[in-house]
Amino acid sequence: MAIPIINLAPRTNLTKTVHRRKLQHGQAPALAQYYQALFSTLGPQHWWPAKSAFEVIVAAFLTQNTSWRNVTLALENLRAARLLTPATLERIPETKLARLIRSSGYYRQKARKLKLFVRYLRTNHGGSLKKMFRTPLPRLRAELLELHGIGPETADAILLYAGGLPSFVVDAYTRRILERHGLAEPRATYHHIQDLFHSNLPPDPGLYNEYHALIVRASKDWCHKRNPICSECPLAPFLPASSLPLRADSTHRAVPLEATP
Ligand code: SF4
Repeated sequence: MAIPIINLAPRTNLTKTVHRRKLQHGQAPALAQYYQALFSTLGPQHWWPAKSAFEVIVAAFLTQNTSWRNVTLALENLRAARLLTPATLERIPETKLARLIRSSGYYRQKARKLKLFVRYLRTNHGGSLKKMFRTPLPRLRAELLELHGIGPETADAILLYAGGLPSFVVDAYTRRILERHGLAEPRATYHHIQDLFHSNLPPDPGLYNEYHALIVRASKDWCHKRNPICSECPLAPFLPASSLPLRADSTHRAVPLEATP
């Protein structure tokens, strides 16, 4: 089964839709406009490049603390060994699994986490992802978070990208952009940041999918940890003057204020 890649048409009505919803944080227009600005500049990102829902889940584990390139090598090994099904992954010895995913780093821990997940899937949902994803979202999310090795980001990646459920994925890139734009406090919790999106955007998995992918792309292209390139970024018009942490220098790159003379 190929994962349906959700290609969103430009959401010209998103801002209007969001305005009609209850605004709990008063930032819905900003979040909707951020999306519009990113999508109109970058277009659809075609996430994730996986062939099945189970492959998405395996990738969600493997991508913890490593680059996508290293994940790809591990996935290729698993595919070549015909192990990208819950049943085959549960049957393989953990040490052999660890060897096959070595390129993804922390491979022993990741092998352990994958084995625990497929065991959970069999014992709680009869080994069926379809059945698992029919579980009410809050209950399923709580179940996943109870498993060893699944934090909120991995749980939400599984729910959104493998299950097509409306659970926004918050990662370091999301946090960085929201903090730099004064939309989140530096010590804001995962839940608080996720709630900003959930409370202020329609519960649309396609939108959450594309939005997260656009945030990652914007962070890689412009919003670097050091020296973000604000002058070229489509989100530059939204940088608030009151909490502006950055300024454009004469080279049109942005530098932290504390680094300015
Ligand atoms: S690069 Fe600058 S304008 Fe773009 S998201 Fe980051 S802080 Fe905002």
